[in-house]
Amino acid sequence: MTAMVDIRSVHKSFGSLEVLRGIDLEVRSGEVAVVLGPSGSGKSTLLRAINHLEKVDSGWISVGGSLVGYRRQGGRLYELREREILKQRTRIGFVFQNFNLFPHLTVLENIVEAPVSALRRPRKEAVHSAETLLARVGLADKAAAYPRQLSGGQQQRVAIARALALEPELLLFDEPTSALDPELVGEVLDVIKDLAHQGTTMIVVTHEIGFAREVADTVVFMDGGRIVEQGPPAEVLDAPREERTKAFLSKVL
Ligand code: ADP
Ligand code: MG
Repeated sequence: MTAMVDIRSVHKSFGSLEVLRGIDLEVRSGEVAVVLGPSGSGKSTLLRAINHLEKVDSGWISVGGSLVGYRRQGGRLYELREREILKQRTRIGFVFQNFNLFPHLTVLENIVEAPVSALRRPRKEAVHSAETLLARVGLADKAAAYPRQLSGGQQQRVAIARALALEPELLLFDEPTSALDPELVGEVLDVIKDLAHQGTTMIVVTHEIGFAREVADTVVFMDGGRIVEQGPPAEVLDAPREERTKAFLSKVL
């Protein structure tokens, strides 16, 4: 079976700073990969590259069999046009640390916006599925509220519903609970766990080790722009081979 996400020899620099130094990673359909690593190790840059928010310098990434941001023709890679990139991006859901909801739109409108404007779904249909998604994240009664009227945990659950509204093949989470008060972390992780159990393919950057142990098929430890160690949670979290992994885990556990 081919990988849902296939990342090969990806390099990325910002000026003279090489942030990704040859990343190879495969995530199969239905798998959950949890990415751990110290601040500055390149985790966000990697997620952003998968979602075309950053262009890579070399190597390539494919999602669901199509190259991200590029097209292969006669052995060469050609960059896609902005329109095609925007279309590709609708196949990938992205949930940010700081929710990034539209503050001037209601919860319902936040969710309906992309399906209507990017996918040209009939509004009535988009509203109906937004209501279903809100129920799924436990916020059926908040459709008419504005983001500022919600707790951080509720806002993040809306952000997850919004990402799901595009029926993405892949969901990316960049530290989805690190901006939350501790007592709100669980409600967001529970929603992500549900999605994992339903077979959603996802890559989750998080420092929540308990979550990783419970839902990850594979744990990826990054440091200094490289994948230092990767494997099932029982190996990477409970019996890490690399010194850098051990040192990191001793700080976050
Ligand atoms: P992580 O998510 O693991 O904390 P990032 O991928 O955000 O790491 O960042 C990796 C490194 O790249 C950091 O040193 C960061 O300062 C740098 N970096 C990230 N984005 C940019 C950018 N747009 N311009 C310059 N440097 C950046
Ligand atoms: Mg980051």
